[in-house]
Amino acid sequence: MVVEILNTGSELMLGRVLNTHQQWLCAQLADLGYVVSRQTAVPDTAAAIRAGVQEALGRADLLIATGGLGPTSDDLTRDVLARFLERPLHEDPAILEQITSFFTSRKRPMPASTRVQALVPEGALVLHNAFGTAPGLALEVPANRFRPGAASSWLVMLPGPPRELRPMFTEQVVPLLRRVLPAAAKFVCHTWRTSGLGESMVEQTVAPAIEGLVARGLELGYCARPGQVDVRLVARGDDAEVLVREAERILQARLGAVLYGRESDEEEAVLIRRLTELKRTLALAESCTGGLLAHRLTNVPGASAVVLGGFVTYNNDIKQKFLGVRPETLAEHGAVSEAVARQMAEGARRVTGADVALALTGIAGPSGGTDAKPVGTLFIALAAASETVVEHHLNPYDRETFKQVSTQQAMDLLRRRLGPESPCTLKCAC
Ligand code: ATP
Ligand code: MG
Repeated sequence: MVVEILNTGSELMLGRVLNTHQQWLCAQLADLGYVVSRQTAVPDTAAAIRAGVQEALGRADLLIATGGLGPTSDDLTRDVLARFLERPLHEDPAILEQITSFFTSRKRPMPASTRVQALVPEGALVLHNAFGTAPGLALEVPANRFRPGAASSWLVMLPGPPRELRPMFTEQVVPLLRRVLPAAAKFVCHTWRTSGLGESMVEQTVAPAIEGLVARGLELGYCARPGQVDVRLVARGDDAEVLVREAERILQARLGAVLYGRESDEEEAVLIRRLTELKRTLALAESCTGGLLAHRLTNVPGASAVVLGGFVTYNNDIKQKFLGVRPETLAEHGAVSEAVARQMAEGARRVTGADVALALTGIAGPSGGTDAKPVGTLFIALAAASETVVEHHLNPYDRETFKQVSTQQAMDLLRRRLGPESPCTLKCAC
């Protein structure tokens, strides 16, 4: 099956917006067994959109076009494609009603231009937009004249904003594809997420043991992100499930606690889930990460059940005032030290009454490093009732990556200490 993506938007051509649809859609489609063979980006002009669609329909069984479904003058996709495919547009009263209530529920006047979003090309399926006003559209191009010999092709049009496109794709396009364009062979794709080992180390740990399965058709892929590596297991055909299951057993045996989740799990969500399960509360004391750890954890719905609070103590006086870090410890060891990390975590735990506390202190750079404590030095402390443990890491990256990796390592430390299953392996009294 030939699958293509066409991203429309002059902002993409001007480098003002990163084309995340291309990456996100390709990943989603690949996980479903549809491998995209070409993706094209074009500016918001009728000629470019028309040419892009014509060329792609000359090759594809499925073409997914993104952007340009909105109400402004640069939103041309619906109109251009309806004319090009000779599908007259009709106003759909149900969509008009949804657009009207979108504005009334927000107590905002409805601009007249938004009405064009209720226009539907003849024969098109409407994909409801739960997060905006422009619905998506899907239509079959029967006896595709652009591709001689092809019975038909499907054209799916999705709105530009990612928060509208993504749920629409997952909830409406995926079931549609399964129905109208089922993938030919059985396809299994599982992604496992790891934290704490570099890409080469992950590969070195698992690849030799999986070689036999690779020879039988398993595909193994790695994707590195700051502080994390995803391992992708893909198999096709009748043996697909068996191959992936066997590979998963090997991953679990070889990587153990390095594996923290599956598919789109994020470490913060896994950690909040685990703390909630164990009914443990958490406090945070951050210096070099400036609150990023608190930010990441509080991005997870339900975090308030377990995250009591956090301190961003950038300055030494503030470390003393709010966390009780001792001046002599600061003078003797410096703010970036095992001893200070320990006192920060113990202070945060004491002040908040949390079961456990995490603290981070380090040198994000680019300046401030010494021979003894180079840029990237990081101490993470985890305080519990019975003990405080401190880890020392070296993350010599740019500031933002340093913060990302450091918070990842802190969450990882706590996750590992909490253990994968009850009972908790933290030797605390809680
Ligand atoms: P709207 O109703 O918001 O106008 P639309 O369907 O007309 O939606 P566009 O106008 O093409 O979509 O894009 C709206 C916004 O969506 C863009 O300003 C951009 O921020 C984002 N966007 C569009 N295309 C992409 C893309 N390929 N990758 C990431 N973001 C995108
Ligand atoms: Mg628009």
